[in-house]
Amino acid sequence: MEELGHYIGGQRVSGTSGRFADVMNPATGEVQGKVPLASREELDAAVAAAAQAQPAWAATNPQRRARVLMEFVRLLHRDMDKLAEALSREHGKTLPDAKGDVIRGLEVVEFCIGAPHLLKGEYTDSAGPGIDMYSMRQALGVVAGITPFNFPAMIPMWKFAPALACGNAFILKPSERDPSVPIMLAELMSEAGLPDNLLQVVNGDKESVDAILDNPTIQAVGFVGSTPIAEYIYSRGCANGKRVQCFGGAKNHMIVMPDADMDQAADALVGAGYGAAGERCMAISVAVPVGDETADRLIEKLVPRVEALKVGPYTAGNDVDYGPVVTGAAKANIERLVQSGVDAGAKLVVDGRNFNLQGYENGFFVGPHLFDHVTRDMEIYQKEIFGPVLSTVRAQTYEEALGLAMDHEYGNGTAIFTRDGDTARDFANRINIGMVGVNVPIPVPLAYHTFGGWKKSGFGDLNQHGPDAFKFYTRTKTVTARWPSGIKEGGEFTIPVMQ
Ligand code: NAD
Repeated sequence: MEELGHYIGGQRVSGTSGRFADVMNPATGEVQGKVPLASREELDAAVAAAAQAQPAWAATNPQRRARVLMEFVRLLHRDMDKLAEALSREHGKTLPDAKGDVIRGLEVVEFCIGAPHLLKGEYTDSAGPGIDMYSMRQALGVVAGITPFNFPAMIPMWKFAPALACGNAFILKPSERDPSVPIMLAELMSEAGLPDNLLQVVNGDKESVDAILDNPTIQAVGFVGSTPIAEYIYSRGCANGKRVQCFGGAKNHMIVMPDADMDQAADALVGAGYGAAGERCMAISVAVPVGDETADRLIEKLVPRVEALKVGPYTAGNDVDYGPVVTGAAKANIERLVQSGVDAGAKLVVDGRNFNLQGYENGFFVGPHLFDHVTRDMEIYQKEIFGPVLSTVRAQTYEEALGLAMDHEYGNGTAIFTRDGDTARDFANRINIGMVGVNVPIPVPLAYHTFGGWKKSGFGDLNQHGPDAFKFYTRTKTVTARWPSGIKEGGEFTIPVMQ
């Protein structure tokens, strides 16, 4: 059985804590590897080595730093198949979806190649008599990222690419469920020319996360994962004086207006609801048709599409729509929530409960489920299920549909399907949710815009990637400089004011 390690000092190293977690193959339910769980001492040692390496990296001009990322992009393309296979084997998602995971990260790396431009400061000539003023963005030092299982390539890259482009050293604590790809990415960064100790991958669980939060050298922490952990990391990190941004869970609503193209809306819902087995923070998990007639038409279009979904292992090729969920515990949680929906009186119009895949009986496969007549008070509506379960909540009016999405505690993404520009515009303006799609079901912004949710889906001031990432990973220093002849003539004792 493969024993994974950490990636520290430019090489794979074994763990010394003696503690391990199982790495599963979700398609077969077998343990395929062991990942070490770092101790506080191991984490602190990785941080100390990073702190030694960071000043020389920050002093390297930004164009040279960007060249490492350029080469990294080339290597990602070279190793795309290998990365996707490793990703699918531990996560369970299909190979095309695994490549999408790598590519959505790669796009942010491409954006970060613009670091020399993005890091340019501001300059005011003659801000006063003989006075110039300029602001520069400087690296923070050592920063850390704690990432979830569901995008083991994309989210680590969203974090370490801008952080390193800005001149920081980066400590990555990836999910212990699928740790292979983050280590492969770090190896490729070394191959691309990144000096040792600037990107340390420390595998672990709560102990290493707490060590990150308490380590005084670490200046900033970026987290992506579930909301309870996001809240914990945000409060403990901030209390320890760090800059912290945390992105949490979601319950994304898609409003379907009576004038929407119903085939388009149904296709969009099937892809956005069931792709990656629903294990996406931008998955649509609630469909909100407006009016009973719209609801009936939508359900009629959805049922055959959902029933036709092909569920299987990534090894079955491109024909599979989605794979298993990540663990047996995740599967059990989804099954429990589905049962709670049935018990609460929601109508299970596609019942995936007895799904069975021959030859993969021990895999964590979950059949597709479609609920109709879900109401606000039900647990399946309130909680993030993170599985292939789409709930339909019928609204009688546009205002009721808007209010549903606005009242929900999560605010990551949402979408509206309509042919009416005025309704779409009103929705985009009024909704209290961070990412909005108009006839686009999964409105994940591209690399040069920023990504972030509102309400219980995001904590902190700045979003991920785009220009915000360059703000998050730097701090501003403003210099006021005067080279007057007056200084030679004696000091000034009153506060200077502009004339
Ligand atoms: P998770 O919260 O269980 O784990 C995320 C990270 O936190 C992992 O690295 C894990 O090791 C660590 N962690 C887990 N328990 C911890 C604890 N008690 N103390 C300290 N650290 C702990 O999340 P997950 O299951 O890996 O990912 C799925 C969740 O992530 C979903 O809720 C999903 O919506 C969310 N997510 C959000 C976004 C976003 O941008 N908003 C993106 C992807 C995923």
